[in-house]
Amino acid sequence: MEKYSVGIIGATGMVGQRFALLLAEHPWFDVKVMAASARSAGKTYKEAVGKRWLLADPMPAKFENMIVMDATADMKTIAGAVDFVFCAVDMPKAEIKALEEAYASLGCPVMSNNSANRFTPDVPMIIPEINADHAEVIKYQQKRLGTDKGFIAVKSNCSLQSYVPAIHPLLPLGVERALACTYQAISGAGKNFNTWPEMIDNVIPYIGGEEEKSEQEPTKIWGVLEDGVIKPRNTVPITAQCIRVPVSDGHMAAVFVKLENNPGMDEIKRLWAEFAGEPQKLGLPSAPAQYIHYFEEDNRPQTNMDRMLEKGMAVSVGRLREDSQYTIKFVCLSHNTLRGAAGGGVLMAELLCAKGYIKRS
Ligand code: NAP
Repeated sequence: MEKYSVGIIGATGMVGQRFALLLAEHPWFDVKVMAASARSAGKTYKEAVGKRWLLADPMPAKFENMIVMDATADMKTIAGAVDFVFCAVDMPKAEIKALEEAYASLGCPVMSNNSANRFTPDVPMIIPEINADHAEVIKYQQKRLGTDKGFIAVKSNCSLQSYVPAIHPLLPLGVERALACTYQAISGAGKNFNTWPEMIDNVIPYIGGEEEKSEQEPTKIWGVLEDGVIKPRNTVPITAQCIRVPVSDGHMAAVFVKLENNPGMDEIKRLWAEFAGEPQKLGLPSAPAQYIHYFEEDNRPQTNMDRMLEKGMAVSVGRLREDSQYTIKFVCLSHNTLRGAAGGGVLMAELLCAKGYIKRS
């Protein structure tokens, strides 16, 4: 199969580095462009990243000597050289929005890991197993942007990528409300223990903006396509508390769910075990074979042992039991920079290629 040519915008950053690792041997995607700020432009990828390589696996040798381009100044060249881009940049929101719209308007689809466009009404926010059908809004976005090829699609925040997938299969039981307390890894802030030593032996009970995202983004994920936009729906009112904990990767959540009908714990586990979405049906390269894994052991899932399940793309759930105030409670875990960031972006791109939204030039 002829591969799609892709670019990584923000390639030198933490999420960009994850994209580089995930795409180095990807069966469908071939990285043709690495781009970042003017600070990195003109340098080799190795020089531009310098001492900032944060991942345990080494930088793929094939990318070391690629010359990094300027995401803004070289935009037209980049958009003309690739079939689509992944975008994960640290810039003011208004600038990210403008950058992503400019690429899309040039006919270059943007798979965004940024939050700037998550609530743009005609931009789909996709968790491929849950709301793949939201891609239908792309044609309305293209009308607005004046292109029949470019568009922006975003992935949701990493904090909710364990509990929204765990709640979703329970919706037929009537989910009245949920409470989630998340325990989030330091890589979610783009850091490791060398760059954030204050996190060693420490817990910080505040992550700016995270609780709002954790409560509001599910309303768009469970939203409906109406009048050319995705209208958010408060299907499950969620209250969230987000806490930074001293782990490198992996966001855990303690979740409480009030159900209208309690079918018993075995039935809930069956709903999780049988849950599959478009990625599994289409056999996408990055799709986990089993999206939700349930652990019967009382002390699982554990961050260190279970975050890499199915190459970091699965959700681990455990400790399901009845609750005296809600109906049930459980614990769940997902890898924040794989499923929650770059891996989720790659899976979304695979879905949009398989569905014909992204075309090879
Ligand atoms: P990061 O490590 O700080 O990297 C930022 C990237 O943005 C670098 O490549 C940087 O390039 C580039 N950049 C900065 N200013 C730019 C400009 N004016 N033009 C073009 N590129 C520019 O950040 P990160 O942790 O990878 O996060 C990137 C994005 O992903 C953020 O929007 C973040 O919210 C989102 N995100 C992060 C996570 C996570 O787990 N870390 C999860 C989900 C989403 P230079 O090297 O040239 O400065």
